[in-house]
Amino acid sequence: MYKKNVFEKYQDNLEPVFAFNEEYRKFLSTCKNERFVVNFAKIIAELHGFKEINALKSLKPGDKVYAINKNKNIILFVVGKDKVVNGINVLGAHIDSPRIDIKQNPLYESQGFALLDTHYYGGIKKYQYVTIPLALYGVVVKKDGTVLDINIGDNEGDPVLGISDLLIHLSANQMQKTASTVIEGEDLDITVGSLPLKGEEKDKVKANILKLLKENYNIEEDDFVSAEIEAVPQGPAKDYGLDRSMIAGYGHDDRVCAYTSLRAVLDLKEIPNRTACCILVDKEEVGSQGASGAQSRFFENTLAELLDKVGELSDLNFRKCLSNSNVLSSDVSAGVDPLYANVNELKNSCFLNNGIVFNKYTGARGKSGCNDANAEYVAKIRKIMDDENIYYQTSELGRVDQGGGGTIAYIMANLNMNVIDAGVPVLCMHSPMEIVAKLDVYEAYQAYIAFIKNA
Ligand code: MN
Ligand code: MN
Repeated sequence: MYKKNVFEKYQDNLEPVFAFNEEYRKFLSTCKNERFVVNFAKIIAELHGFKEINALKSLKPGDKVYAINKNKNIILFVVGKDKVVNGINVLGAHIDSPRIDIKQNPLYESQGFALLDTHYYGGIKKYQYVTIPLALYGVVVKKDGTVLDINIGDNEGDPVLGISDLLIHLSANQMQKTASTVIEGEDLDITVGSLPLKGEEKDKVKANILKLLKENYNIEEDDFVSAEIEAVPQGPAKDYGLDRSMIAGYGHDDRVCAYTSLRAVLDLKEIPNRTACCILVDKEEVGSQGASGAQSRFFENTLAELLDKVGELSDLNFRKCLSNSNVLSSDVSAGVDPLYANVNELKNSCFLNNGIVFNKYTGARGKSGCNDANAEYVAKIRKIMDDENIYYQTSELGRVDQGGGGTIAYIMANLNMNVIDAGVPVLCMHSPMEIVAKLDVYEAYQAYIAFIKNA
């Protein structure tokens, strides 16, 4: 199998590739958690003529609608010419990323510092999260329902936060530990202050932080109970490499596929034959369960609403629609890292700059937990990509028995839809600085458009 560098395709005019990626870079820099992505998607969708699905009594071909679930999950549809019962084309991506969550009773004082206790979210190498600047994002919801938005660290003039690590001079014992224990989960606490409150006797620094929280944000200590605050790497995504061919940033997994999938649906110029759908889900990094995850009934519920509004709703039609539908589970793949190429079996691995990656299956060990796309569906997708001159590659997630992972593919496939994983190759996945190649980002966008139009 011959892999082709996407550069061949765009070498005479890289301008559109770089322009698209600059928009993506800005998106990634500002949308650092699922709530921000949903809000961004809502705003940009409305600019593209989408309306909240309940605002329309009935739907006809060409209508564009969206629905938001729990502020962390959004679905968009462009109604196609064909009957919905004949199936829809779905791009599904996740918009949560590994991070450090603030606990519900987090604030404490120790040795003259005020700290926030945390519980990490998703699969991280904990040692990558110490001694880097962190920003806080999230919401605090007051008992009366008032929502206070938290966004500290990335605005001009903001302070940053961080997690300390032991100085090398005194690390004789620490350096004997294995990488999985060198930083313990309970030691990922975030430093938030060191100034005492005047006149206070006990826990003076904590008292001062509480005073600041009250004055600046109207937050009381008890309000952390009904808050979702997430510490994420601070700073914007940046061009990576002297040739600026890549982007380094936090959260490419999976906002790179979320953004390109969203744009593919937003940028449709003509009414598609089959109804086009983009769903952006939360909670993939912790197993996709819960109301805002891919396992939620939200997808099915909203699809039923759609069938109702196009005048096709029946229990049987709903089931037929699912069985007739095609899905790209848009999620990133593990690109070959030149420093660690031996974890891959190179014939069945993906490389940066070689285009969108199709994973027939993921899983671990004997393909455990995977969605294994059926060969007939893979053939159909292959033809679409070749007909549209999309540069693509196929890959497994590493050598057999090296490790493994999963995506939302099997969850969508459990509804009896046709599903295959398709996404952008990434280096340093789940680290605070993930890397993607701009050519792959652009080619994924083109591939998603080809799928929406032709699947
Ligand atoms: Mn992912
Ligand atoms: Mn992931």
